[in-house]
Amino acid sequence: MLYTVLGAIDESEMGKALVHEHIMVDFSPADEQHVLDDSMREEVVRIMSPYLQEMKDFGFRTLFECTPRFLGRDIETLISISRATGVHIVSNTGFYAFGGYKHIPLSLRDASPETFASLWIDEFSHGIEGTGVKPGFIKTSVNHGPLGDLDRRLIIAAALTHLETGLTIACHTGEKECALGVAGVIEEQGVDPSALIIVHADQVEDMSFHLSLLERGFWLEYDNVGLKPLEYHVELISTVMKHGVGSRVLLSHDAGWYTVGEPEGGKDSNRPYTAVARSLIPALKARGYGDEVEEQLLVTNPREAFRIRVRRG
Ligand SMILES: [Zn+2]
Repeated sequence: MLYTVLGAIDESEMGKALVHEHIMVDFSPADEQHVLDDSMREEVVRIMSPYLQEMKDFGFRTLFECTPRFLGRDIETLISISRATGVHIVSNTGFYAFGGYKHIPLSLRDASPETFASLWIDEFSHGIEGTGVKPGFIKTSVNHGPLGDLDRRLIIAAALTHLETGLTIACHTGEKECALGVAGVIEEQGVDPSALIIVHADQVEDMSFHLSLLERGFWLEYDNVGLKPLEYHVELISTVMKHGVGSRVLLSHDAGWYTVGEPEGGKDSNRPYTAVARSLIPALKARGYGDEVEEQLLVTNPREAFRIRVRRG
């Protein structure tokens, strides 16, 4: 089962998926997030639908929307754009700590892991903000460097939520030290590494980091495709394939998005969701990788990574 914003679908319906994209983001602090009305939502749908249509034309059926609450997550907009385009959209529960905690409401910054977890588990049990829509995964993030106290509480909360709901955890990292910190807390909390996706792993250019985390059983997400030189990702994927750990790698663009508060969502800086299909897959095929590798990276791995089940370590 996969929980999309239009309801549960069978995982066989998922097809090719992009595991980390954004449709709409609001960079205002948590306590100053814009309140959207119908005309703003219509504008997001009008501006972003062509990008979803384009990804669909490349054969993708599912998009994991990685914008958490208090960073612009808006379920009503996601419902409308999913209806308009026919793309399956999966939203999330969780909080975003990166950026010095400004996307966590002041009233919650001292909260315990149990309090955070209860908010997220409630969204899974009862639906998000009265919409009845269930999150399909946990999205959280940490600040760079050694984990701060609040970063750590959020990761413990993600682990508790996982153990209660079976939702997979996707955690924004972006450098080695915080990524290893998150991985360590997940294991300490008795969660199997296969329940954690290390987001932005491709920002770390150290192969031993990649291979050791893959060998421990974590998922690595290479979601800067189109932002880094094509050759970089081709090399990275070739190396993990050579070491036999390509079954724990995920690809995406971290692209989009409508920025709330900017004229027409700042549409001139939007990026399409197409570099994986347009450039990376053809480059891998030119290296001799066949359709089975494309299937593994874009269909099988996302399906396995996000399958809802409790994974105890
Ligand atoms: Zn992102």
